[in-house]
Amino acid sequence: MAAIAYVKTSRLGRILAGHPWVYASDLLPLKKSPADGETVVVRAQEGFFVGKGVFNSRSEIRVRILSRNKDDELDDAWLRKRLQAALDFRNRYWKRPARRLVWSEADGLSGLVVDQYGDWIVAQVAGLAFENRRDALASALRDLTNAHGVLLRHDGVSRKKEGLAEGGPVQLLCGQDVPDRLDVKLGSAIFHVDLREGHKTGMYLDQQENWQAVGGFCGGRRVLDCFSYQGGFAIHAALAGAKEVHGVDISEESVAQAKANAEVNKAACSFTVANVFDHLTEFVGRGEIYDLVILDPPSFTRSRDKLQEALRGYKQIHLQALRLLAPGGLLATFCCSHHVDAETFRAVALDAAFDRRRTLRLLRSFGQPIDHPIVPAIPETEYLKGFLFEAL
Ligand code: SAH
Repeated sequence: MAAIAYVKTSRLGRILAGHPWVYASDLLPLKKSPADGETVVVRAQEGFFVGKGVFNSRSEIRVRILSRNKDDELDDAWLRKRLQAALDFRNRYWKRPARRLVWSEADGLSGLVVDQYGDWIVAQVAGLAFENRRDALASALRDLTNAHGVLLRHDGVSRKKEGLAEGGPVQLLCGQDVPDRLDVKLGSAIFHVDLREGHKTGMYLDQQENWQAVGGFCGGRRVLDCFSYQGGFAIHAALAGAKEVHGVDISEESVAQAKANAEVNKAACSFTVANVFDHLTEFVGRGEIYDLVILDPPSFTRSRDKLQEALRGYKQIHLQALRLLAPGGLLATFCCSHHVDAETFRAVALDAAFDRRRTLRLLRSFGQPIDHPIVPAIPETEYLKGFLFEAL
């Protein structure tokens, strides 16, 4: 008999609405503490069934609910069914060679991220339900996708909070190892993807649609891509007929890779290794002028208590970018922090524009692509937002 965890009535609303996280503080004291990784039945204080989940005493998220169905066993067959549903969703709406196959809570698989890069699959695990079942996970993924190989990466921000070991080499779970050079089409260009060392699971898959969208505005323009990583925006700008494209990133390896990617795509771009904050100041000092500036920084905050500091950082780069923009120039600006919502982010851009006495006209809003779906009842599934402004 599975242990039962009772949720306090005052905490039930969010969970009944579909949120799968049950915090330690949401629960009444447990009569018998289950072992970590064990399936528990979650019930309301009043007694009715809420869901089934996996227990973890080392995490503030004491139970991750994985099914709302009494009859589900949370076994390998259940896992396979969920993975199949996630894959079907992408096959229905998002047929691209590189894509996210599982977006954790948004796919009913809290604590699991799976990305596909052509014939290879990369998983990141931050939940005991999957940590304890790597082989079943890998073989199901391989069967369902016909992938050549499935890799597991041990990074990702949430492992520590779950009491799981961080770091360690990337592990080949099944199939063939990934070749040293893996070229995959993302957006409209070919990128060399490093599944072992690259950011996230290799690339920022969530931006490929936005690279194409912003590219559509770059024709004939002088473009500056700030925080360029491996050249996603810059290369799409060049391929779309930009007059000149320059990218800036603080990481030497990223810039080297961006240059190599530009070459493969015959995209005329230059890249500089620099801190964007300093580089923009230097460009302003030199009187450089651009027709389109892209700002796509890393998340400046991973927690709510650092929010004000983060907003100051976002404002700072907007202030500098606006100085470089020709009258009528375009600013494509992105924010990937879950803690800064679209409204707040737009207000930061507006605040900077006020200080520079520029009027912003909104041309487009950007968000997450369909393979990173948002479930509104689970706010954590939403993080990426962006705007394309014309700065009058
Ligand atoms: N625009 C990219 C993703 C950017 S991710 C894409 O669409 O693929 C953020 C990038 O910012 C990383 O490559 C990181 O190396 C870089 N970075 C972080 N801090 C920086 C700083 N202060 N100056 C310049 N680059 C920075």
